[in-house]
Amino acid sequence: MHFELPSDLADLQSRILRFVAEEIAPITEGADPESPPSELRREIARRADAAGFYRLAVPESDGGLGAGPQLVTAAREALALSGNPFAARALGSGPGIMRLADNPEQREALYVPVMRGERSAAFAFTEALRSDGSRQPTQAVRATLGDGSDGFLVTGAKGFVTGGADADWLVVVANVPDEGTALLVVDRDAPGVTEGELGASIDGSTHSPFNFDEVQVPQSRLLGQVGDGLPRAMQNIDRMRLGVAAECVGWSRWVTRTTLERIEGPHRSGQPLAEQQQVQAIFADMTADAFAARTALYQAAQARERDEPTAGTQVAAAKWLASECLHRTVDRAIQLHGAQALLRGHPLERLYRWSRSLRIAEGPTELLRLTVTRHVRQNGVDAL
Ligand SMILES: Cc1cc2nc3c(=O)[nH]c(=O)nc-3n(C[C@H](O)[C@H](O)[C@H](O)COP(=O)(O)OP(=O)(O)OC[C@H]3O[C@@H](n4cnc5c(N)ncnc54)[C@H](O)[C@@H]3O)c2cc1C
Repeated sequence: MHFELPSDLADLQSRILRFVAEEIAPITEGADPESPPSELRREIARRADAAGFYRLAVPESDGGLGAGPQLVTAAREALALSGNPFAARALGSGPGIMRLADNPEQREALYVPVMRGERSAAFAFTEALRSDGSRQPTQAVRATLGDGSDGFLVTGAKGFVTGGADADWLVVVANVPDEGTALLVVDRDAPGVTEGELGASIDGSTHSPFNFDEVQVPQSRLLGQVGDGLPRAMQNIDRMRLGVAAECVGWSRWVTRTTLERIEGPHRSGQPLAEQQQVQAIFADMTADAFAARTALYQAAQARERDEPTAGTQVAAAKWLASECLHRTVDRAIQLHGAQALLRGHPLERLYRWSRSLRIAEGPTELLRLTVTRHVRQNGVDAL
């Protein structure tokens, strides 16, 4: 597959692949990617920082490199393409949702501690049924709080909050009656916050459900304005979607390469599997699938870099295409590897579980398809 990236992106990818081979591979050999020891995680971050990658996505104003969507996309693709399951940790996540804390007081109180690694925040977006079975979306009602200050009383339920069990803060998307949506930073241990049973997904991640019962949240914990909560939350989701798409494309290419080695290698039948026409057809499907997903990925990254009006839809489409591509590609690769790929701990077994969750996380495929159709119905078929 040949798709020529601009030279700055291609150079970054070469440097990253070399860095992973020379600096990450020797220290990660034999470690379990789904539960890496904290010293190993720190060492990867330290080496990546020394090599100039770790703070790629962090704004320059915060000591980072301030790379735009295209460079970050290229970096994520290369980290996955390395085939090292620890490599993604070489790219620091940056402030995440907390980058929305943009007034000076909030930056000091919320953003800086997250950037320094002293505090962590989880994103509580997905609505859940409340513990009494009712299904009213999470609400934030304006109120005078116990200390006499202005604020909100938050009531509702959220599900699948990744990292919620360890977070100091939950960034909750809530509806302020008659005004619109708001993003509120809620202390995880505030009175009225109840954490449900921790769930472990097949991909190795863990999620917590939360109930909120008239939780007092001061005005100073409102990110942005009331009314812009959902659009701001969607900006964060858009960034995550582009990242997922990049990782899926990188892994799809790695799986395709690995499978080529497998089918061209010796086989007990006496002939490499690559000589079989049905195998060739399956391999062609894998290759073309990754080619299409990669083309969509860089098209979407460019649209996001230029802040084009269609960028959100392109990113949604790229995430849908790339996550579905990776899952199909891993499935086909397992078929061509045979039973060995089903053994626990085999890279394809791990990728199969991980890629399955990505078809739901950051927007299930069906919702992304709706996004595309809505956009095209409004703007015409040439809008994408
Ligand atoms: C790995 C992972 C990490 C996550 N992390 C977080 C997190 O940190 N914070 C957070 O808030 N949430 C998180 N989520 C939750 C995620 O946002 C939701 O799983 C997702 O939005 C789908 O919601 P749901 O699971 O409740 O499924 P439902 O909304 O019940 O949908 C189930 C299925 O129904 C179909 N469907 C639903 N609506 C429609 C429709 N309108 N049209 C057609 N088909 C439809 C889709 O096939 C969908 O997969 C995470 C999920 C995963 C898998």
